[in-house]
Amino acid sequence: LVRLQNLAEQLTTSLRKGLLHQRIEREARLDGLTGLPNRVSFERSLAETALHRRHDCHLFVVMLDLDRFKEVNDTLGHHAGDQLLIEVGDRMSRLLGPDDVLARLAGDEFAVVGERRNREEMLELAWACVREAGRPVTLDGLEIVVTASAGLAVIDDDFEEGAPLRFADIAMFNAKTQRLGVEIYRDEIDRRTPARLSMLGDLRSAIEDEQLHFHLQPKLDLSTGTVVGAEALVRWTHSARGVVPPVQFVRIAEDTGLIKQLTDLMLQRGIATLRDVHDRGYHLGLSVNLSTHDLLDSRLADRVQRHLMSNDVDPSFLTLEITESSLLIDAPRSRATINELHEIGVGLSIDDFGTGYSSLSYLRRLPVGELKIDQSFVANVLLDEQDEVIVRSTIDLGHNLGLVVVAEGVENNEVLERLQTLGCDVAQGYCISRPLAPDHFMSWLATTGHPSRRIDPLDFSRWSGVGGSGRSAPSPDPIVE
Ligand code: C2E
Ligand code: MG
Ligand code: MG
Repeated sequence: LVRLQNLAEQLTTSLRKGLLHQRIEREARLDGLTGLPNRVSFERSLAETALHRRHDCHLFVVMLDLDRFKEVNDTLGHHAGDQLLIEVGDRMSRLLGPDDVLARLAGDEFAVVGERRNREEMLELAWACVREAGRPVTLDGLEIVVTASAGLAVIDDDFEEGAPLRFADIAMFNAKTQRLGVEIYRDEIDRRTPARLSMLGDLRSAIEDEQLHFHLQPKLDLSTGTVVGAEALVRWTHSARGVVPPVQFVRIAEDTGLIKQLTDLMLQRGIATLRDVHDRGYHLGLSVNLSTHDLLDSRLADRVQRHLMSNDVDPSFLTLEITESSLLIDAPRSRATINELHEIGVGLSIDDFGTGYSSLSYLRRLPVGELKIDQSFVANVLLDEQDEVIVRSTIDLGHNLGLVVVAEGVENNEVLERLQTLGCDVAQGYCISRPLAPDHFMSWLATTGHPSRRIDPLDFSRWSGVGGSGRSAPSPDPIVE
């Protein structure tokens, strides 16, 4: 009996050790949250797939990264972030072929390795992953939409260790910054795409060393033919790379928190220039773009007000643009910021309208005064019947909600005339003027065929309200320059 007891004890101990060993092994291979393979086992699977590759197939890696994961964590908390990752992992798993391996590499980064006969089949999978990740997800009772970007790398037989993931990562980064959805790795983008970290380091010093500046693009009132304002668009003149457009760095600024300094710089410089414009006698409004991160900052309204006061500019001359897709989460903090901005008297505008998922009932509850129809619809207004219907109904919708409707991306006079016929209020686009450096903008104002409204100092109060803060704003008689 004693011997049996000893034997049982020994067995229990080795069984426990065995189980523990198994668990440690599993944890070393699998990601604890999603149960998917982790980076280490992904690399092992990649090597194995390469070794046993079918002769009629090519090896590929797709890397997928969520575009707004940080916001979900920041606004809804880590629990919601975790739920989102599990859901995305589940959705992607359902798209896999029998020999594909999906892993969660880190944070919100997923990767698939597999083999396919041709690029089309690989792209099909990459796009399916992006679409699935981008379908609405319900987290803690809120329905949110998080877009994703994917990079596809087709792998040669004799690849260097680490190259497949690096290539897919470079392509994914390009897809993200250029908002392409999916990008295939090519040597050129490796050369063009600056390493993420150097870009980030450069951006930080660009903000500190004041290498960031902005251009102004005029906004034309279609009923009077006068210039009523301008949008400030950030530009970065990099010492080696030349002018870097915002699509290449605004996302990085958003992901790293640098956006706060960027927005502040735009507000400070933009409002100072607006003061100058007013001093020259032009009665114009200014629009500045915000990002979602700005809306999470409880001190944004204070900062805006400070810049307005130090330049002695009436708040009604400033409009802040929020992209429709950045209204990702109806989080209490962003709602509060939007209300605070409204209370200090600045106008609010929904930018890129038509590209997001905001519901009408949500828009109605926001104190916005302006709707900007996304340029993708405006560009095709004469060519595509559906786009015409979208533009026409957005104009009607905007007017029914009491909003000023702006069309952006107006590239030629035919489109401008059609917009006028459709009753659109304001237009912005290359056919009126490209975005211009402030000096050029001033010269343009002085010589343009579109007279701008001049400020009558005696009648100043009558003008306030124009600049995008609502259809009810008084409409002054245009005074031709
Ligand atoms: P957005 O706010 O919708 O700005 C309009 C974009 O359309 C600008 O691109 C402008 O140059 C371009 N555009 C204007 N007219 C035309 C046209 O007739 N045809 C075409 N094809 N394009 C036209 P840009 O300056 O490259 O800015 C791109 C986006 O980057 C902006 O879209 C905005 O979302 C973001 N962005 C720009 N500046 C800032 C900023 O200071 N802060 C933040 N948070 N985002 C910014
Ligand atoms: Mg804008
Ligand atoms: Mg826009």
